Amino acid sequence: MKQEKKEKEGWRELPIGLILGAATCLNFETGDWRSEKPIWDAEKCTHCLICWVYCPDSAITVKDGKVQGIDYRYCKGCGICAEECPPKIKAITMVREEK
Ligand code: SF4
Ligand code: SF4
Repeated sequence: MKQEKKEKEGWRELPIGLILGAATCLNFETGDWRSEKPIWDAEKCTHCLICWVYCPDSAITVKDGKVQGIDYRYCKGCGICAEECPPKIKAITMVREEK
């Protein structure tokens, strides 16, 4: 039996979405999710800002183009910053989180 061609749904049939205000994530401090924590070495750091670009939680703090440290209130301990810091520099190392 030949099936009837179904009409394509238009935008009016889409479920109503949600738009959040800007920077609402500031209210959710996710640092206590961590099992490992990044330790930044200011002596080794060349301020290339690669870690800042890659950090998914914007937890690398920067002022005037220089890394200031890591905001542990938001750092989830994913380790991306330590992975992306150039191997010759290795200014970030991950250590086990102590409670
Ligand atoms: S461990 Fe992950 S969340 Fe924490 S500073 Fe590094 S990249 Fe950001
Ligand atoms: S990636 Fe490494 S060297 Fe570059 S700014 Fe971050 S900690 Fe410093």
